[in-house]
Amino acid sequence: MPPPTLPIAVGVAVLVSVMGWRTRALTGTGAVTASLIGSLILAGTGWAGGACLGVFFVGASLVSRIQGGEGPMGLEARGNRRDPVQVMANGGAAMAGAILALANPRLGLWVVASSLAAAGADTYATSIGALSRLDPVHLGSSRRVPPGTSGAVSLLGTVGGVLGAALPAGAAAIVVADMALLTGATVIGVAGMLADSLIGATLQARFHCPRCDVPTERGVHHCGGPADHVGGRRWINNDVVNAIATALAGLAGLAVGFSLQASSS
Ligand SMILES: [Zn+2]
Repeated sequence: MPPPTLPIAVGVAVLVSVMGWRTRALTGTGAVTASLIGSLILAGTGWAGGACLGVFFVGASLVSRIQGGEGPMGLEARGNRRDPVQVMANGGAAMAGAILALANPRLGLWVVASSLAAAGADTYATSIGALSRLDPVHLGSSRRVPPGTSGAVSLLGTVGGVLGAALPAGAAAIVVADMALLTGATVIGVAGMLADSLIGATLQARFHCPRCDVPTERGVHHCGGPADHVGGRRWINNDVVNAIATALAGLAGLAVGFSLQASSS
């Protein structure tokens, strides 16, 4: 199949984003942001990056619906529809990889696949981990905490995370017939998920709602009342943690892709 021309890249990205908006996976402005990121990824990395993004997006949107009702705490304030900040936190590093791909397609694809594998791993781990019968263990305190708490891990969630990394990585790898990309990006994605949990356990802001007497990750609790800042850095919310983890994964993908390219030439 020939690589997508720019009008086809934009057309496919807009179509998928509108479907995401219609199915309530994205807010309106979230869909505009996703259209931009999708256009750049398709134009820069072709169908390989497009398949990677498509599998990530469809899969993440589906697993996010698993727990229904009360979502994980990171999403409590805004529901399950991704807004532009959440879209950029998950896809910004991949967008940078797509721009790099205009100069070096294979290296750019490594960045796209690795960062989307990390974003997929975190999303799957949170959603599938919510089904765990045992509450996850917080990496900071080693105590069991409610499912969805940032910085907490469970066995089921971690298995889900491996799946969430391998599916988008595998989609890219199949299109370019490169099994090193599947294994490399999957391992990087899982490592990115663990980095996400570690940062979530240490640096992420923690609040406590005095009215409801429950912990929360937002400065304003969903009851509408202001929450007290009780730990972490105030400005590091779940979106910032996601952005850091996906950027680290993208950089790791850049390093691995670069060393493979250097050793083969
Ligand atoms: Zn409250």
